[in-house]
Amino acid sequence: MKRRHLIAGNWKMNGSLATNAVLLAEITVGLEEIARENADNAAGAAVDVAVCVPAPYFGQVQASLQGDAVKHRMALGGQDVSVHTEGAYTGEISVSMLADFGCTYVIVGHSERRSLHGETDADVAQKTRSVLRYRSTLTGSAVAITPIICVGETLAERESNQTEAVVGRQLAAVLEVLVPSDLAHIVVAYEPVWAIGTGKTATPEMAQQVHAFLRAQLAAVDATLAKGVQLLYGGSMKPDNALELLAMEDIDGGLIGGAALKSADFLRIVRAAQR
Ligand code: PEP
Repeated sequence: MKRRHLIAGNWKMNGSLATNAVLLAEITVGLEEIARENADNAAGAAVDVAVCVPAPYFGQVQASLQGDAVKHRMALGGQDVSVHTEGAYTGEISVSMLADFGCTYVIVGHSERRSLHGETDADVAQKTRSVLRYRSTLTGSAVAITPIICVGETLAERESNQTEAVVGRQLAAVLEVLVPSDLAHIVVAYEPVWAIGTGKTATPEMAQQVHAFLRAQLAAVDATLAKGVQLLYGGSMKPDNALELLAMEDIDGGLIGGAALKSADFLRIVRAAQR
């Protein structure tokens, strides 16, 4: 089955009003160019693009994506979400707050949240659930948010042959709190921790093996919906390795950290993602 590719940038805690303005302008110009090329090409493009930015900049990015030409080409996402809907949770951001700014994606369970902020599999599951329950309350044209659920093993876990056990456990915790139809509204990102920000990348074969494992796990919940779930690879995806990673059967896009901060690199990855 052909799934659309999704290239999602994770800006992490980087940027400023000034540098974001430049980056966004360059990316939108590049996406316009890509769109023009595709208009000349009967096959058209099948790539979704998103940027997951620090919350203080939601308003800036939302404003910069206004306008018919671009707004359907790049989506806005958050990097984390609270399990709570409102109340005395200092520093937290609710799913409805993300929606207020037009976010249509949110990363949940990034390895930096797990390792630096102590997020457990159960926390990640509850966060995913809160995003999907919010979706189920929406009516009319209200904006829904898709969670990008991150899983991945450490180097020690890979070296002790625990990769499938670890990512399987992380995904199982989430699947336990979902209903099968939720599979139509999730994205899963396989991000080996040892490859994030290190310049080391899983080989296409290594990544494909884990992606196939994850898809089989999803298929055990709903075989039909599992075929449509976008599975992203993350971990030092760069312009020079994107093409070979994205050529793999079950790699449907990338979650991009460092390379998302350089417009030329990000756009080259978007181009590589066009099927
Ligand atoms: C990430 O942190 O999600 C990531 C994939 O980072 P990088 O591309 O820099 O490895």
